[in-house]
Amino acid sequence: MEYVCCNLCGADSTVVRYPSTIEEHPAGGCSSDWSAYACTHSGYGRHHTIVQCRECGLVYTNPRLDQHDIVGTYEAVQDPLYLEEREGRVLTFEHHLKPLERIAGPPGGRPLLDVGCYTGVFVEIAARYGWDSWGLEPSRWAVEQAQGRGLRVVQGTLDTADLPEAHFDVVTMWDVIEHLTDPRDALERAYCLLKPGGLLVVHTIDIDSLFARMMGARWPWLMEMHIYYFSRRTLRAMLERCGFEVISDKPQGRYLRLGYLMNRVGALMPLVGRPAEGIVTRLGLRGVSVPVDLGDLFTVYARKSWQFRAQP
Ligand SMILES: [Zn+2]
Repeated sequence: MEYVCCNLCGADSTVVRYPSTIEEHPAGGCSSDWSAYACTHSGYGRHHTIVQCRECGLVYTNPRLDQHDIVGTYEAVQDPLYLEEREGRVLTFEHHLKPLERIAGPPGGRPLLDVGCYTGVFVEIAARYGWDSWGLEPSRWAVEQAQGRGLRVVQGTLDTADLPEAHFDVVTMWDVIEHLTDPRDALERAYCLLKPGGLLVVHTIDIDSLFARMMGARWPWLMEMHIYYFSRRTLRAMLERCGFEVISDKPQGRYLRLGYLMNRVGALMPLVGRPAEGIVTRLGLRGVSVPVDLGDLFTVYARKSWQFRAQP
């Protein structure tokens, strides 16, 4: 485990917001393995200590697994359930593309990079809509899935990958920033990869949303694989420090197939979810897609400034 300072303001002064729910082994190690980091893992309610910076309000996991262990874990992730849920993600990303193109303009074969693209669902949809679409992903398994579909997906992270600078018109990060060990560094790297005036799109969970505040310690997104819990205010502050101008930040939900949704509800509340999943299955409704928006996921659109002055 490692202790880290605030990634937004650098302070080392925090208050515990949610105590750890993970039992440490007597030897000092934790019972984490890569399956807890799989995209569809249902480790709801299981997390290390989550703190809030007294200076800037950023919420994050501290202490946490050593960052090299975290990156190594993502490289090893395999997640066949994600492939089953592909259809829901296709619908979600088709919906995400519309507001993106309203701001970025028509694709016209321009380069777009999806960071943390996993099996490349968004890369594939963006290519279909006319973008010169690239992906970046640490999981070797997921990269193989993507490359198997003929997609241009590079294995690695923003730190390690050899990608062309000032090349991309759009960089997207869908449900990725909350997993990163150094989000500020990642945003700075994304800044370098974008053309001047290029668009960064970040979709993540909102710790300050009404639903998160109502649920408190039972908010389902408090989980081991999430190490940063942004709000619209803290993400906006970090983007501005990295040289971006925030254009908009709004709640944006997603689409799930009913069978998958009930499976997730079952993982969270077995007494309700398991019978409901059974009913949905018997009625043959598992494949029906439903929009889900509890207001606790949001998308930020930010433009790379034409002139950037670094802030301390
Ligand atoms: Zn701070």
